Amino acid sequence: MIARPPSGAAGGGPAPMSECVYLNGEYLPLSEARVPVLDRGFMFGDGVYEVIPAYARRPFRLQHHLQRLDASLHAIRLDNPLSFADWDEIIGRVIAEHPASDQSIYVQVTRGPARRDHGFPADPQPTVLVMSSALSDVPEAVAREGVAAVTLPDIRWGRCDIKAITLLPNILLRQQALDAGAAEAILLREGRVTEGAASNVFVVIGGVLITPPKSRHLLPGITRDLVVQLAQAHQVSFREGEISEAELRGADEVWLTSSTKEILPVTRLDGLPVGDGTPGPLWETLLALYQAYKRGLRRGSPG
Ligand code: PMP
Repeated sequence: MIARPPSGAAGGGPAPMSECVYLNGEYLPLSEARVPVLDRGFMFGDGVYEVIPAYARRPFRLQHHLQRLDASLHAIRLDNPLSFADWDEIIGRVIAEHPASDQSIYVQVTRGPARRDHGFPADPQPTVLVMSSALSDVPEAVAREGVAAVTLPDIRWGRCDIKAITLLPNILLRQQALDAGAAEAILLREGRVTEGAASNVFVVIGGVLITPPKSRHLLPGITRDLVVQLAQAHQVSFREGEISEAELRGADEVWLTSSTKEILPVTRLDGLPVGDGTPGPLWETLLALYQAYKRGLRRGSPG
């Protein structure tokens, strides 16, 4: 089902391995990958995506990512163009062809090319892209010192549970945070924390770890779920619950989680210290559990 490129593909000689991408049934160099101008991803941002880390070439929580991709596709009423087995094979080959051992795999599915019209095409031909880049560890100093965050109003839409490529609000929010000298924006909707512009949020209050419950206002993060699973498995006091702005500001610890940030302590919020201004003890505990999980994956435990 997967077309292989002819050997010695166009351009005379094999592509640099690091640039190999999968696009609509073909493996080809990134520099040769082309999408039509009328692709609805380009026209409307009509598509969904995933970012999947791989450690020692082993994808992290692949089934969880494929299930979330499936849920996002279902939510935008687009049939999954591939079976889980096909995804597995394609992602495996893109990982195998990349020189780095730790990688970040990017998967995107759009509703494909069609005459520009908001209504769905009768017979969509989805565009499927899988590419990879080297993944570097969160720098030790960043993790040890923590990062600054700012609070901003959550200006996004009502379906933030869909991992949509339509990211303009997130981009504007993140840039506003960067302009303020912060690494991330923590978003507030009606006085409550939803998530970060590209991360989920946890707080520690009085020894209890808290994260907002899943809803249409936040992305069900794969890292979030693993942190919850690890906390529960190791008798860390945890609950899902709404976090008010006052609770956020008074929290002993604030963390951001995502596939690439892992578990990152926020030590300054809107210019003020979080807790005593250093990463807290519960963060140390969960980070150690998370790193142990990653070591297991590297050794071949199921991801
Ligand atoms: N929320 C948003 C808005 C995000 O963009 C991300 C990262 N893509 C996350 C949460 C974290 O999700 P994950 O742990 O699956 O990377």
